[in-house]
Amino acid sequence: MSIQKFTSKVLSKEYLTENLILLSLDSPRDFTFEPGQFVMFTITKDGERKQRAYSILNSPSQKGRLDFAIKFIDGGFASEKFKTTKEQDKFELRGPFGHLAFAKSSPEHWFIGCGCGIAPLHSIIVTYLSKYPKKKFVLLFSVKVKKELLFHDLFTNLEHENSNFTYIPTLTREEWEGKTGRVQHHLPHNMKNKTFYICGVTSLVEDTKKLLMLKGVDQKNIKSERYNQV
Ligand SMILES: Cc1cc2nc3c(=O)[nH]c(=O)nc-3n(C[C@H](O)[C@H](O)[C@H](O)COP(=O)(O)OP(=O)(O)OC[C@H]3O[C@@H](n4cnc5c(N)ncnc54)[C@H](O)[C@@H]3O)c2cc1C
Repeated sequence: MSIQKFTSKVLSKEYLTENLILLSLDSPRDFTFEPGQFVMFTITKDGERKQRAYSILNSPSQKGRLDFAIKFIDGGFASEKFKTTKEQDKFELRGPFGHLAFAKSSPEHWFIGCGCGIAPLHSIIVTYLSKYPKKKFVLLFSVKVKKELLFHDLFTNLEHENSNFTYIPTLTREEWEGKTGRVQHHLPHNMKNKTFYICGVTSLVEDTKKLLMLKGVDQKNIKSERYNQV
């Protein structure tokens, strides 16, 4: 897939939580990507230009539009820019990049994410779930408190509508009727014939990968994306 560079206009900005936005931009109709990939934004602020990566949230079947779930890091260069971004603002984008691609030959897929790490997993799930009714899809999604469960209604509905989809939300800092604790507590017992996709902060990605490998999962069946370097 060839890398393209283009200017995109903000179509809408919506707060999904108090510090996370759904940002929609237009894109050239011939821009294509694989679900799970990301693009690089050039952020210009106070005369400075920096590159930041953001995963594409929506499916490539939605031509001409790219959605992103962007979490504000207080004082962060891009975060402060996105706080004041409004409709019609323009960004330079470059992409697509990344290898969090769907493993079409695998019979069972475990998507493991935290926070805005749900974005590429969302793209893969909404693209492939109905295309592969015989494959099993499981989403294990961890956040601190219930109000941070992005797209909770959508995933709950998808679970009701698709017998091949299991949605496991888990909260780390709040008691509720569902599961609690870190994702590592809710991994499958049998690790055979599964592909794992892990996305989010480094601690979640590295701890989960380590545990899966300890339990005998081959590294080639683990795909991951780290959002921060620490
Ligand atoms: C492949 C890839 C895809 C990504 N996709 C997304 C996405 O879909 N949505 C999204 O919101 N972000 C995503 N990120 C993270 C994003 O690129 C930025 O790093 C993030 O928005 C912070 O940028 P900033 O300029 O606001 O902060 P910076 O100015 O870069 O950092 C400010 C401070 O915050 C710390 N910091 C940076 N990132 C984090 C973090 N995630 N958690 C805690 N502290 C942090 C830094 O160490 C620094 O001390 C992705 C990163 C990668 C590598």
